[in-house]
Amino acid sequence: MRFSKLFIPTTKDAPKDALLPSHIFLIRGGFISQTGSGLYNFLPLGKIVLDKIRNVVKEEMDRAGAQEISMGVVNPSELWRQSGRYDVYGKELLRFKDRKDNEFVLGPTHEEVVTDIVRNRINSYKQLPLHLYQINTKFRDEARPRFGLLRGREFVMKDGYSFHASVEDLKREFDLMEKTYTTIFTRLGLEFRAVAADSGAIGGSGSKEFMVLAKNGEDDILICDKCQYAANIEAAKRAKKTTENEPPKADFAKFHTPNITSIEQLGEFFKVDTFYTIKAVIKKAIYKDRSEIVVFFVRGCDTLQEIKAKNAAKALELIDASNEDIKEAKITAGFCGPVGLEDIKFFIDNELREEKNLICGANEENYHYVGVSMFNFKDERYADLITANEGDLCPCCSGKLSLAKGIEVGHIFQLGQKYSSAMNASFLDQNGKSQPFFMGCYGIGVSRLVAVMIEANHDEKGCIWNKQCAPYVLDIIISNVKNEAQTEFAVKLYDELRAKQKEVILDDRNERFGFKMNDFELIGFPYALIVGRELDEGKVELVSRATNEKEFVHINELHERLKEVFA
Ligand code: ATP
Ligand code: MG
Repeated sequence: MRFSKLFIPTTKDAPKDALLPSHIFLIRGGFISQTGSGLYNFLPLGKIVLDKIRNVVKEEMDRAGAQEISMGVVNPSELWRQSGRYDVYGKELLRFKDRKDNEFVLGPTHEEVVTDIVRNRINSYKQLPLHLYQINTKFRDEARPRFGLLRGREFVMKDGYSFHASVEDLKREFDLMEKTYTTIFTRLGLEFRAVAADSGAIGGSGSKEFMVLAKNGEDDILICDKCQYAANIEAAKRAKKTTENEPPKADFAKFHTPNITSIEQLGEFFKVDTFYTIKAVIKKAIYKDRSEIVVFFVRGCDTLQEIKAKNAAKALELIDASNEDIKEAKITAGFCGPVGLEDIKFFIDNELREEKNLICGANEENYHYVGVSMFNFKDERYADLITANEGDLCPCCSGKLSLAKGIEVGHIFQLGQKYSSAMNASFLDQNGKSQPFFMGCYGIGVSRLVAVMIEANHDEKGCIWNKQCAPYVLDIIISNVKNEAQTEFAVKLYDELRAKQKEVILDDRNERFGFKMNDFELIGFPYALIVGRELDEGKVELVSRATNEKEFVHINELHERLKEVFA
């Protein structure tokens, strides 16, 4: 393509709300434009990059045996009612009505639609497994759309859904998808980790996220320094915490602790490590049609992980309990403990199971219990509730966990029968028995990846694309278009390379050389070939955007050298 013809509206300034390099440079480089909050258009260069990423995803999904389809963006609410998600999905789900008052949603994800497609069309185990995927527009009315393509409201996702006759076969596909995603992100040249994840609103069990390590990432992940363990902080586990400090040995007793309402005060009052104290975190759990106070007990030195707590309480959401809520539930704030706590839903962290010599609130103003042993609570009370931290020990080996920032680019789930049973989608198994399908679902943030490529690779001047994703690999810059020899040489080279289907762009604009170099650096083509004054000596200059290395190449050796550039 000729630069002079291509619509590449580069600008000097970035929008005020653009904080991250990917957002700033994609707008300034003329890749995308914004029409509203979280709403973006892909301009020619952006569309080329998007399609390149899309092709890598498609090639690998096809290779893995999945079949591409295209589902509607507008979905009848009825399907969402059948799955039970209509009322629980939250405000991200945009709901609206047509002229006949029929209710619709804009698809934020397509489990319902795909289940409806397969139901009554696949009837026997003999037709399984089946994996259908699409690369299509999604809409989520995100609470805080930001960072450009990283968190849009309308975005492009690859979403695949697989159907199986058994859990074993679902697991096989899940492993295959883990491998496929690994190939995709490796081909895109990204540094990433597959991490254990929370399953979120989609539900089901067994889920992994693919995180690109990037300092501007929104997700916190813990990574073991010895083994392969890595997990989103929302789901991260750790080896049970221990302490070398002496426990406060005492027989079980009620102790007067006037005005000691915080864990720090309690630790000081008894001169003990807060490891031996129990902290109560009081929350209000929101359910579909009611709310309830729930108390979570963790060690004084730990913090509650809200996502784990929400899952334990099977709540849609947890919010802070107000003083009135706490009073109404007859909880003695500051002195709440699990021993003798009646008529209140509560959960205890797994690490407190069968522990002794603890101190906790006595559920009475100004009193704590000492010498508490955790033997008398039912199994259902226990759950993993704590936030694992940097420095904690790995749950798999003796390594140390360290914190890193990541951007989620993919997520794979074993859904099981959650949607198929809710939506009556079943098949006849080998024994002629009807069973709901076993399902898996697999997402990749295709438009988010456009931005991720830049978060992973840029400098202060602009984007740095790798060859795999670059809109064009080589930018031939005519230093001075009024110089006939330069123009003639450049155009001839450009035509030759185009004939060989090389990804090349010719900057033939009647602009100053410096201006064209700035655009090269801002847009970030992997290489520039400058056809300038040195052409008189039979030389042109090759510049690498990533390393900024410049070398003069004799025109007799140019074709040989360019083979490497396009390799
Ligand atoms: P996040 O935690 O970032 O909100 P999610 O877990 O809700 O994402 P999934 O439902 O797992 O997202 O969707 C699959 C993929 O789609 C994600 O891994 C992510 O790459 C991409 N994605 C999700 N939400 C957005 C968004 N608002 N804008 C761009 N891409 C998104
Ligand atoms: Mg996710």
